[in-house]
Amino acid sequence: MTKKLELYINGKFIQSETKDWLEVLDPSTQEVLCEVPLATKKEINLAVESAKEAFLEWRDTPPPERSRVMMRYQDLLKKNQEEIAKILSKENGKTLEDAKGDVWRGIEVVEQAANITPLLMGETVENVAREIDSYSYIQSLGVCAGITPFNFPAMIPLWMFPMAIACGNTFILKPSEQDPMTANKLAELFLEAGAPKNVLQIIHGGKSQVDELLKHPDIKAISFVGSVSVGQYIYKTGTEHLKRVQSFAGAKNHMVVMPDANKAKTIDNLVGSSIGAAGQRCMAISVAVFVGSSKEWIEDLKREMEMVKPGPWDSEESGFGPLISPQAKDRVIRLIEKGKEEAKCLIDGSRCEVEGFPNGNWIGTTLFTNVKTDSEIYKTEIFGPVLLCIEVETLEEAIELINANPYGNGTSIFTASGKAARKYRHEIEVGQVGINVPIPVPMPFFSFTGWKQSFYGDLHAYGKQAVRFYTETKTVTERWFEDDEKSSKNLTINLE
Ligand code: NAD
Repeated sequence: MTKKLELYINGKFIQSETKDWLEVLDPSTQEVLCEVPLATKKEINLAVESAKEAFLEWRDTPPPERSRVMMRYQDLLKKNQEEIAKILSKENGKTLEDAKGDVWRGIEVVEQAANITPLLMGETVENVAREIDSYSYIQSLGVCAGITPFNFPAMIPLWMFPMAIACGNTFILKPSEQDPMTANKLAELFLEAGAPKNVLQIIHGGKSQVDELLKHPDIKAISFVGSVSVGQYIYKTGTEHLKRVQSFAGAKNHMVVMPDANKAKTIDNLVGSSIGAAGQRCMAISVAVFVGSSKEWIEDLKREMEMVKPGPWDSEESGFGPLISPQAKDRVIRLIEKGKEEAKCLIDGSRCEVEGFPNGNWIGTTLFTNVKTDSEIYKTEIFGPVLLCIEVETLEEAIELINANPYGNGTSIFTASGKAARKYRHEIEVGQVGINVPIPVPMPFFSFTGWKQSFYGDLHAYGKQAVRFYTETKTVTERWFEDDEKSSKNLTINLE
């Protein structure tokens, strides 16, 4: 019988009472790995109620004690990295190496959460007016919720709940229904790390379950990562229900190739960043902008790209895995067909086959040149192993083209010129900028800041900045008179 994935509510893994289940398929074979429940309204309410009750005690747990849970958690995640990566690879399709990276980037956020105390320090100014002092505290919010996409089933949930919980909140996670098994493993290890049993809850499902969370009066903040249309919907609906919302959305990331760049390294990085993980990364490079004579490298790029082949997650030969679903594959094939009308196709991966895996969602590497900015393939986030090439004469033209693009998640420039790099960094309207680094995802002690349609919400977050999202600042202005009791200078420490 097919395994039925459990919900994680009130500190227990429980079987959902729902009648609605979806199959979770291995993207290389279509084998059914498990069934995921679409949680009922009653189950969602129970999870929120339990998280609300847990908050009362958890917010008063000293931050160093909360940090210790995260220290044990990061240790357990490291010990179980390979096992989590295998679960992840099987349900998502990405290669084992890639999956280990997915888990590792999440562990780095947990390390940051384990160092939360200094980030929760307020600010003080003595004598804002004569004998009056002001200071601010950073306080927890309450129950927060996270809605995550399929493409990083470990890293993205780990962007959210460890930071929120370390800040003293409780958390409801709604992972992608396409690869939900990884989240349950993360929860199992969190419990093992000694987290109080109901500070984290996991609700499975799709749109209706998300809607319940967006409208629930007891949820204070929503973190979302996913596509642009859903991101806009989440931002609008969440804020309409007066919640704090951060919404990380889609992308179209450009790499500028200057003629003075190191040719071999540029091509190598361009191949890896455009087709790695089958292009299913929000920071994948999907457009290469060749400046001046660098366009002569396109033939070499083609040769390199043709050498990388997709395959199953557990084969060392696989350059990347399948797309997440047959629907995703059909969508990418349709876009490739459209691209053939709009541009010149140098490599067509739409009829890709992998020996021994006739049912996999395979798309081979695909390369277009002569791409116009008003074409559908340029305007759409393809989310497949497809690279578009555009040629321009100058760096100024490249910057103008990229700044006119509605997305602003990531970008990079490959050049040997400090002057060109400096100009690019300064003028480009994109959140993450790499200089000779193709996918410049920052470490969690920086913030992750998509611009334009790649991010909705006032509080740029993930990593260190997440503290400002998951907390509220309270500023106190005080004055004391001669006969009042509060006279000691050491106001904070009382260890007895
Ligand atoms: P998606 O938007 O389809 O789904 C994301 C989440 O939203 C899932 O949990 C899903 O169940 C839920 N959802 C889907 N449709 C919904 C609806 N109509 N109403 C409410 N909830 C809904 O995204 P995906 O296909 O899982 O992920 C790929 C997308 O995520 C890409 O666009 C990619 O660029 C983006 N992404 C962005 C970042 C970033 O940091 N900006 C990171 C990773 C992925």
